[in-house]
Amino acid sequence: MAASGRAVVIGASLGGLLAARALVDSFTEVILLDRDAPPAEPVHRRGVPQGRHVHVLLARGRQALECLLPELGAELYRLGATPVDLHGQVHWYNDGHRMRSARSDLTGFGMSRPLLEQAVRQRILALPGVRLVPDCEVTGLLATADGRRVTGVRLAPREGRAATLTADLVVDAGGRASRSPTWLAELGYPAVEQERVEVGVTYVTRRYRREDGQLEDKLGVLSNAMPGRARYGVVAPQEGGRFAVTVAGILGEAPPVDEAGFIRYATSLAAPQVGELVRQAQPLDEPVLMRFPASVRRRYERLSRFPDGLLIFADALCSLNPVYGQGITVAAVQALLLRSLLARGRHRLARRFFRRAARVIDGPWSIAVGTDLRFPGVTGRRTWKVRFVNAYLARLHVAAARDAVLGAAFLRVVNLIDPPARLLGPDVMLRVLLGRRQRPSASSMAR
Ligand SMILES: Cc1cc2nc3c(=O)[nH]c(=O)nc-3n(C[C@H](O)[C@H](O)[C@H](O)COP(=O)(O)OP(=O)(O)OC[C@H]3O[C@@H](n4cnc5c(N)ncnc54)[C@H](O)[C@@H]3O)c2cc1C
Repeated sequence: MAASGRAVVIGASLGGLLAARALVDSFTEVILLDRDAPPAEPVHRRGVPQGRHVHVLLARGRQALECLLPELGAELYRLGATPVDLHGQVHWYNDGHRMRSARSDLTGFGMSRPLLEQAVRQRILALPGVRLVPDCEVTGLLATADGRRVTGVRLAPREGRAATLTADLVVDAGGRASRSPTWLAELGYPAVEQERVEVGVTYVTRRYRREDGQLEDKLGVLSNAMPGRARYGVVAPQEGGRFAVTVAGILGEAPPVDEAGFIRYATSLAAPQVGELVRQAQPLDEPVLMRFPASVRRRYERLSRFPDGLLIFADALCSLNPVYGQGITVAAVQALLLRSLLARGRHRLARRFFRRAARVIDGPWSIAVGTDLRFPGVTGRRTWKVRFVNAYLARLHVAAARDAVLGAAFLRVVNLIDPPARLLGPDVMLRVLLGRRQRPSASSMAR
């Protein structure tokens, strides 16, 4: 189908940029609008406060990004990102058990979030017909008199007068604070159903000089929170010869930002490598803090009425507890979906997109919310399935301390390569049952 018309994207962060990649095959003009101006260097910007914190790119996300932007991995490598074998080169601790490591084809990239965004932005802006308008806030939607079709957006540029911009399609990639629910209400649409799971996560991140011999020569650490010790930690390499260390507390527990408190907190994690690193390595900056109150999923697919000419995308559709590192991957998979739907035409696009995007989100949402429901303080429905899966996973983590096949199966699921049901297959279950009979060795149990 030949490209035609104009698409406008609200937000030029990773969600908006990946949406633009999907749109460019079907629209002759794609305009990204952002209230920020993109920095010339890969550094933090105001509109993406999470950008200072460790961003893990899951293996599925890396694959999807490569499909959308071939050779992006080679480009990231050239810019200083470190390829990481997510099973072989990371110390994984689940429920305090150290997963037995093994070589794998699950490859991630260690890099800062601004570097990834910059590399993607440069590729997207080089595509024909794509343009970014910076310093420009979208303040509302334009619609036909009967409200049945969105026809553009209202703009408030940082300098200059309020304006409007017409479009054949508007994509809201404005992040978790998306104003589409309000704008749709103004057009007379019913309120979108919203699922919200309060997790009260507080992130604190600090960067350190990377040197030979640190982390027992591995490239990262991931120490998951568990009931009774709701503390999480991750270490990941970044460009510029550094490690970023993020520690996080959940349900309102906030890691300290002062030097001694940060070290104490890092040392209290199940993975001893995090504490060792922050005690010995040279810090490069001060710890920074960010709060993430709740996972939020907006069920646009359940609305009986929705205007033509509008889509909601990425975090604006679903914002997941970041400790599972899924947001960019879900955005990239949504971009692949949008591209394939547009290739078949624009008829009833919103209905087709929301229905299929809901299926993309179901797996990551069930992993994030299901795992969060292990903590008694998290409110939500603990169905028998959630309770069974969590009890089963606790056993899998014990067995994975010895059995690398189980670690690999678990990592393929959390990297969104395999569906969660894969862990309940007979081959995996048998290994979990056999593994339970063996006691974990002392070295596999963290303090
Ligand atoms: C602390 C934290 C850690 C995270 N860690 C990970 C991780 O490890 N791995 C991972 O995959 N994901 C992670 N995420 C999620 C990830 O950051 C997002 O999924 C990803 O950025 C895609 O989001 P987005 O583009 O939809 O929204 P955002 O990144 O929030 O961007 C929204 C953009 O829209 C612009 N904007 C908003 N409103 C308007 C408006 N009205 N007009 C104009 N512009 C507007 C903003 O300036 C911004 O540029 C993390 C999130 C948090 C909070």
